[in-house]
Formats: sequence, structure tokens, C-alpha cells
Amino acid sequence: LLQLSIPLNFIGFLYREIRQGLTDLEAMFDLLAEPAEITDAPDAAPLAVKGGTLRFEDVHFHYDADRPILKGISFEVPAGETVAIVGPSGAGKSTISRLLFRFYDVTGGRVTIDGQDLRSVTQHSLRQATGMVPQDTVLFNDTIAYNIRYGRPTASDEEVREAARMAQIADFIETLPEGFDTEVGERGLKLSGGEKQRVAIARTILKAPPILILDEATSALDTHTEREIQTALDQVSRNRTTVVIAHRLSTVVNAETILVLEKGEIVERGRHQELLAAGGLYASMWARQQEATEAEERLRAVTEAD
Ligand code: ATP
Repeated sequence: LLQLSIPLNFIGFLYREIRQGLTDLEAMFDLLAEPAEITDAPDAAPLAVKGGTLRFEDVHFHYDADRPILKGISFEVPAGETVAIVGPSGAGKSTISRLLFRFYDVTGGRVTIDGQDLRSVTQHSLRQATGMVPQDTVLFNDTIAYNIRYGRPTASDEEVREAARMAQIADFIETLPEGFDTEVGERGLKLSGGEKQRVAIARTILKAPPILILDEATSALDTHTEREIQTALDQVSRNRTTVVIAHRLSTVVNAETILVLEKGEIVERGRHQELLAAGGLYASMWARQQEATEAEERLRAVTEAD
């Protein structure tokens, strides 16, 4: 009986969680990504964040033993700085973010925050210290205010509004008939990808984690929206240790360091101008992206002329 009732309870729990609209990516990670094998060490201590310096030291990782994914990754993000990771699809960019959240343990080397190995700290404290703005935010079926306040449930109405302002979404919210009380999600108002991302940014501004991962949207956004989102991202990453997984190179131009990842290895690193001058993978990715942008603009000009 006991054996049967545990899984049923668990299914009941999952069902309720899912029904409550717990489809937010971060929350979903919390549910799915406590793989049985990731547990707190018996002597795990809470992570003590000083400035928030993040280090990957000769990190190796594979999902399946016969297929290495990361092959000796080393980099440091000094407290408060931004590192952007670019590279072809499948290079291992998202895998780096999964290791940073300790959804998996490294298979070699180590990941540290302020010198503490992630395997030696409690998962709870790690989740508190880290935040993520995902590519595609799935909102709760609730009000906009609820969706923003999720970042810090004790935040006041004024703090929620301020976060929305910083995330460049307040003006939009104020045009809605019910403002912050507007229901969104599947049953409510459908927001565009860019609007949802700004809600996620507002949520993260409230959470104010010292370490942040931004997984930039792949979808093409119009220039105006892109600029608004960029402003919002600049706000949220200010003075915060930030890793940006960048799909559009236009957003990494100002990063303090750009890492170019290819097949699980860092093949180039530096600032935008240095990498262009080096004439390697980054430079060719940049050239290709410029061509794509120009082609898009020509297409738009033709369509608008019709
Ligand atoms: P993209 O730009 O397309 O998002 P990426 O650089 O983020 O790609 P990852 O998602 O880190 O790449 O994936 C790196 C490699 O690991 C890919 O070849 C992928 O197939 C593999 N991989 C990713 N997740 C898993 C998994 N859960 N199990 C097995 N292999 C995986």
C-alpha cells in the first residue's frame, strides 16, 4: 500500500503544480531538474555570496559517457561583470547554464561562486543566489502583478511597479484596461514574446539575484522592441555577475568578455573589436549575421513597397 501511495501522491502533487500554472521555466527547472542524483552533500553549507565571482575551472561534462559535450572549459566572470557566450548551435552554451544552476554535476573540473564549489553548498541557497531570464517565458495564468511579484512575493505594489518601469514594460501595462490586474496567460491576455520577456526581466529585477543568466531569445524582434529589451537587460545586469547566452551578436558588442564556444571548447575569447580583428569564427559569424540582417531589410523594403 505504501509503495503505491507514494507515486500516487507524487502524481497528485505534480498535477496540482501543473494545474496551478507552474509552467514558468525557472519553476519547471526546479521540478524537473532535481534529478535524483543531485543532492546536498551531508555537510553542505549555504552559499556565502561576497561579490559573486563565478569561475569554471577546466570543466568537463557529458550527458552520455560516450559523447563529451564540454571539453575543458575555463573562464572567470569577475563580480559584477558580464561575459557573453556565443557559438554555433549545439556548441554547449545552454549546458554551461545548466551546470551553473547545478542541474547536473560536472564530470571533471569544478564550478565555483566566490571560491565555493557548487557541490559543497545547499541547492536551496544556490537557487536563491542565481536568476535566469529564459528564452521563452511561460506566464502563470494570473494577473501581470502576480507574474512580476513571483520574483519576490513580499514586494509591495510600488516595488512591482518600479520593477516594471525598469524592465520597460510599465507603459504597456498602463494602456491595458485593468492595468497590473490584467489576467494573462493561456486564459487571459496573450502577450508577445518580447512582452513576456520583459515581464520575466521585471520578475528578476525584484528577485535581485547576485548571479544572473540571460538566455537571449532567438526569435527575430523588430528594432524598437529589441532596443527596449536591451535597455531592460542592461538594467537587470547592472552591477550583477552576468552570463549572457547570445544569439544575436548585436547584443554582445559591449560585453566585457566574449567567449566563442565551438564543439564544447572555447576557441576564441576577447572583446568585440579584438575578435573581429582576429578574423576567426567570431568574425565569420558576424559577417554572416550582417548579411542576414541586410537581406531581411531588403525583404522588408520590398514588402513595404507593395
Ligand atoms: P543552441 O544554440 O542550439 O541552443 P547550445 O550551444 O546551447 O545550442 P546545448 O543545448 O548546450 O547547445 O547542447 C550541446 C549538446 O548537448 C548538443 O549536441 C545536444 O544534443 C546535447 N544535449 C543537450 N541536452 C542533452 C540531454 N539532456 N541529454 C543528452 N544530450 C544533450
